[in-house]
Amino acid sequence: MDDKVRRPGTPETFTLAPAVELDADAAAPLPIRAHFPGDEPPAGLRIDDLGPGDESQPQIRRALLGEPFDDPLAPGSLRCNACAHRCVLRPGRVGICGVRQNRGGWLYTLVYGQLVAARAEPVEKKPFYHFMPGSTAYSIATQGCNMHCAYCQNWHISQAHREGSVPESRFVEPASVVGEAVAAGARSIAYTYVEPTIFLEFALDTMVKATKAGLRNVFVTNGYETPEAVELLTPYLDAANIDLKAANDDFYRRICGARWEPVRDTIMDMHRRGIWVELTTLIIPGLNDDLTELRSTAEWIASALGPEVPWHLSRFHAAYKLGNVASTPAATLVAAAAAAREAGLKHVYVGNAPDVVVADTHCAGCGELLIARTDFGVAMWRLVDGRCPRCSHVLAGVGLDDSRGRH
Ligand code: SF4
Repeated sequence: MDDKVRRPGTPETFTLAPAVELDADAAAPLPIRAHFPGDEPPAGLRIDDLGPGDESQPQIRRALLGEPFDDPLAPGSLRCNACAHRCVLRPGRVGICGVRQNRGGWLYTLVYGQLVAARAEPVEKKPFYHFMPGSTAYSIATQGCNMHCAYCQNWHISQAHREGSVPESRFVEPASVVGEAVAAGARSIAYTYVEPTIFLEFALDTMVKATKAGLRNVFVTNGYETPEAVELLTPYLDAANIDLKAANDDFYRRICGARWEPVRDTIMDMHRRGIWVELTTLIIPGLNDDLTELRSTAEWIASALGPEVPWHLSRFHAAYKLGNVASTPAATLVAAAAAAREAGLKHVYVGNAPDVVVADTHCAGCGELLIARTDFGVAMWRLVDGRCPRCSHVLAGVGLDDSRGRH
């Protein structure tokens, strides 16, 4: 690893992305097929019977991270190990995310390259405030998601399979996504809007090509990846904004249909691997706005990841199944940010709330203003080679000693 790369929280925080050891000749992981007695699926369960994965439907392809699951009542069952649900899929069944299916004993993705969203936007919108500030990210998504948060802002694409809707989409090859990103002036590709792990194969293929083209790759993720998925992503993943919805299992189970521990483990795993991590918490009145709990969460972040990991506190607006819940009051956001700072965090931001402007970056060493922001853009830049001009403290992040991102 490049010796200029440092982990946040250590005296010398890193200012460059982790070095990518790209081995273009490395053998790609192979999909694994479930066992059938006699080695062939029974009649009625052949791939062709379940729908083609042929040229007419290029989005249906063999998927990674499946393994045979021994179910005496359902030969040919699989387990998908892409996310912490680890769904067991009998032949023909689709996982919780709605986009991964057991077809004839093979795990398939149903959404390879089938984009429902693709647009260039400021990287601050993801949000990333310490990752190439002022640069453009090309954001892409397929439909589907492995959580079903009751307040999802993107439910029309993430929950399409539950709501019976068919979002508008187009098929794009990975090379074309990279070409579109370059043409848009982007410096990174963001896999976002829904949980990107559910379209892992397409993300990986795109990430390899993006890295070769000199672009960075960032995930906006709910952190529900398995360690195996993180291992596959690590060589190409430069940064992740991870949703820390609430640091308790009850919230995850009741509101999102998931569990907290795997998210916690992914946050620490990505950080440990040198992937740049920023965290985001949407504060919802009555559900996760308890100040004592938010303070404890901040203390956990500071001790587990270090005090210089950015934490974005975001305002909730009524959405999806929480249409009758009021928006987060400004006072709650201000108090939460103050509590987080008191708990030791150096970079706390408030987003989605124009009346509570807490978007500027200050030096973790002396408090000097380093980056001022307006409307998701960089309004003022005072870093000198990634350091505070007053005390020379290195600002934690990626691409902070590089002015090319600021346009
Ligand atoms: S990615 Fe989908 S199919 Fe795989 S374990 Fe997660 S929810 Fe289940």
